[in-house]
Formats: sequence, structure tokens, C-alpha cells
Amino acid sequence: MSVARINTSHATLDFHRQCIQTVREVSGSMGIPIGILADLPGPKYRLGQISGGAMDLVEGQTIFLNGDDNEGAPGSAPVRPAGLHRDARVGDDILVNDGAIRLVVAAISGPSIECTVAIGGVMESRKAVAIPARTSTLPYLTEDTENALEFAISEKVDFIGLSYVRSADDMKAARSFVDERSPGSQLIAKIELRESLDNLEEIIDATDGVMVARGDLGVELPMAQVPGAQKLIIRKANEAGKVVITATQMLESMIVSATPTRAEITDIHNAVVDGSDAIMLSAETSIGEHPIEAVKVMAEAALEAEKTIDRDALESRWEALEKSVDRAIAYTACWTAADQGSKAIIAFTESGTTAARVSSFRPAAPILALYRDPSAGRRLSLRWGVIPIEVPAFSSIQWMFHEGSRIALETGYAHEGDSVILVAGMPVGASGNTNLVRVIVLPEPEPRFGRERFNDLLVQE
Ligand code: PEP
Repeated sequence: MSVARINTSHATLDFHRQCIQTVREVSGSMGIPIGILADLPGPKYRLGQISGGAMDLVEGQTIFLNGDDNEGAPGSAPVRPAGLHRDARVGDDILVNDGAIRLVVAAISGPSIECTVAIGGVMESRKAVAIPARTSTLPYLTEDTENALEFAISEKVDFIGLSYVRSADDMKAARSFVDERSPGSQLIAKIELRESLDNLEEIIDATDGVMVARGDLGVELPMAQVPGAQKLIIRKANEAGKVVITATQMLESMIVSATPTRAEITDIHNAVVDGSDAIMLSAETSIGEHPIEAVKVMAEAALEAEKTIDRDALESRWEALEKSVDRAIAYTACWTAADQGSKAIIAFTESGTTAARVSSFRPAAPILALYRDPSAGRRLSLRWGVIPIEVPAFSSIQWMFHEGSRIALETGYAHEGDSVILVAGMPVGASGNTNLVRVIVLPEPEPRFGRERFNDLLVQE
């Protein structure tokens, strides 16, 4: 795994804090940068606490959904935040728990919605409540969302997952809240509403990455439309050079079974080949019976799928992207690596952007991303094909070349006589630029300044 997701809609913040700490301890002791993605609740209705934790619903029964404090009334369930009665209309379907339970609105009186049960089942506290025909009129930053944002920022997570984003305005509301407290945090817009699909391009413009959140998308859209939506989201994100995660039910059967289905492996394969940077497990690893096997199965299926990615599509990827000098240099690095049969592309990256730009071309050569700031390494954990390696600061460009050569040899990605491509942004130490590409036939000799001088400069820095 490369990233651990926590979902602040579930469990307590204390529990999440402990999970984050555990991931960081293990990642530190193994020397593998693991990013943390914290998902926010967003403008979404959920059941509040149902007395006894759950209630059994049978078809034809009447039940009241209440947006006030009248939680204990028999035959009623609280819905939070208040406001569902403003969005609902008589005759609307209300889906609970991603459609496992279906209610039909019979009458609305103040904050209370009278419903008839169309599909029954056990209705548990905290399950999601949605009206597929309507978009919630809640503001993006609900109280729960603000609390979760404060938590994510105070824990310095690497990515913040924005649930139920509807538009660029929602992105802006979240971005300005985050930027006031922690500028530059990476935002991942979860595409899970009809409206977010309608506004896909403006959301992609405003975000650092997107998630194909198929669980909710499958509630919002007829399920048969979800695969098409997934392909569209992946293509648009790829064209914008933004990270894209494909999520939910990828190995659903492994929640209880030790082996996956053929269809699940095919789904993982297609998500990778279509252009996902990352693929995600949810219930499989949070409550499933085979979490480790699920991760192994997913990794194996993804690695196999990567072998079939069309690596000759560099030019069409370049054509699809918006042009810039930075992208042109990243493209040149990939093109030259392919042309020269280079064994690795070594991206020197301050903030992670240079390596991310290279990754968006899906080159055949492995991308070794050499970074100094651990947060840049973690940020790269979501990017396709990037192998992040922490290095010390470089005092000069010659030392940078030499260290790149040394690391390519020591990690075994290349051998003496092989060529590798170095790509970086000048001046050394400044972030955001990609403006230098060089071919090195290994090994690159040690620069004239001795190691001592190099170390002196490191200490000064
Ligand atoms: C989804 O709906 O697919 C999703 C990822 O959302 P969550 O798991 O946060 O409900």
C-alpha cells in the first residue's frame, strides 16, 4: 500500500488519531513513505443515533425521519444535519445505506418526513441518507465538515478528501478554509453526485486530484452508467495531469472470502489500464476478514495490469495535456528514456511536482523521485509509478547528477554502462519548475568538490 485513508464520517477522531500515529510509526520504521488521506463528511445527510443502535424495517411500514431533536420517538429516526425536509418532495425515494433500504416520502410536516418503507432491512445509526432525485441544499462546510477539517489540518495529513463536492464553489469554500490554516494542502475531490459529474471540468480545474467514488455514484446514477462515468472521470483527470483514484467495491467479496472473483480482478485491471493513479480498498481493509490478503491481491492484479499499459502512447498523452514548458521537459525526459532504452528516469523533486509531471506520461522506465522534504515523498505516494527516495540536500548540480547516478546503481534499477534520464527544476532547491533534462551513462564521476566540502554545505543548509 502507498496511502492509508481514514473516513471521518465513521468512528471517533481519537480513533483516527491513533490510526494515523500507527501508520506513521510503521511507515517510519520500514522507511516507506505512506501518505494519509482524510475524508471529510461533506454536505451529506446521515442517520443520527438510533435508540438501540438499529431498527428493523418491514415493507409497507410507516417511519418518520426527523431533522429536529425528537430522537427518541418510537417509529422515528434522526437525520443530521437538519435540512432533509427542505430538499425532499412527496413521492421522492429516500435511500438509506447506499440503497440497501428504500423509503418513499408520504408527507412532510415541518422538520419531520413521513415515509413508507418500500425495501426493508436493518437500519443502523450513522448510515448515509440520500435522495437521488435531489441535490442537497446544505452549505459545503457543515459543522461536522469544519470539525473534521480542523482535525485533518492539526494532524498534518497529506491529502484531504472532499466528499460530496458539487461544484468549483464547494472546492473554493474548502480551499479557503484550508489555505487560511495550512496553505498548499492537497485536496482530493470525491466525484459521487450527478451534479459533480455535470461540473466535472471546473472541479478538476480547482482540485489537486479526484476520486471515482463508485459507492455513492451507484446510488446517484443508474448503476449501468457508473462504468462510463468512471472512464470519463479518469480520462479528464489524466488530461489535466491530476491524480485520480478509483474506489469502492474493488474486492468486495474479500470482505468475507479469502479469494477474489474473476470479475473483481478484471475491474482492477481495467481501472489501472484506463489511467488510475491509485486504486482503493474500503470495507475490505476496515472491517473485512482478510485485509492483508486483499491488499496483496490488489497489488498483484495492479502490477500485472501495468505490464499491459500502452507505453507507446506518450505522444497522445502529450497531445491531450495543456502545454507548458514544465510539461514539455517532462515529456522530453520520457521520450528520451523510451528512445534510448534508459533504465530509469530520475526526477529531482522539491515539492513533488516534477515527478508528478513525469508520472502523467506513464513512461516505461521506473520513475525514481529523489526528494528532501518527507512531505513531498508522502505527497507522491498517490502518483502512478513513482518510487520516492529520500536524499539529503544538494549543494550543486554536479553533486545532484552524481547522487542520482549512485542511487540508480545502488538500488539496482540500472547498471554501469546503462543510461538514465535526469529531470529537475533549476535553481536547485526551488520548487515548482521542471526545466532541465540530462542523459547520463552510468556512472557519473564524483564532482571536483570533495565529499567533505559537500557535507559542510549540507550542514550549513
Ligand atoms: C464512495 O462512495 O465510493 C466512497 C469512496 O465514499 P465513502 O467510502 O467515503 O462513503
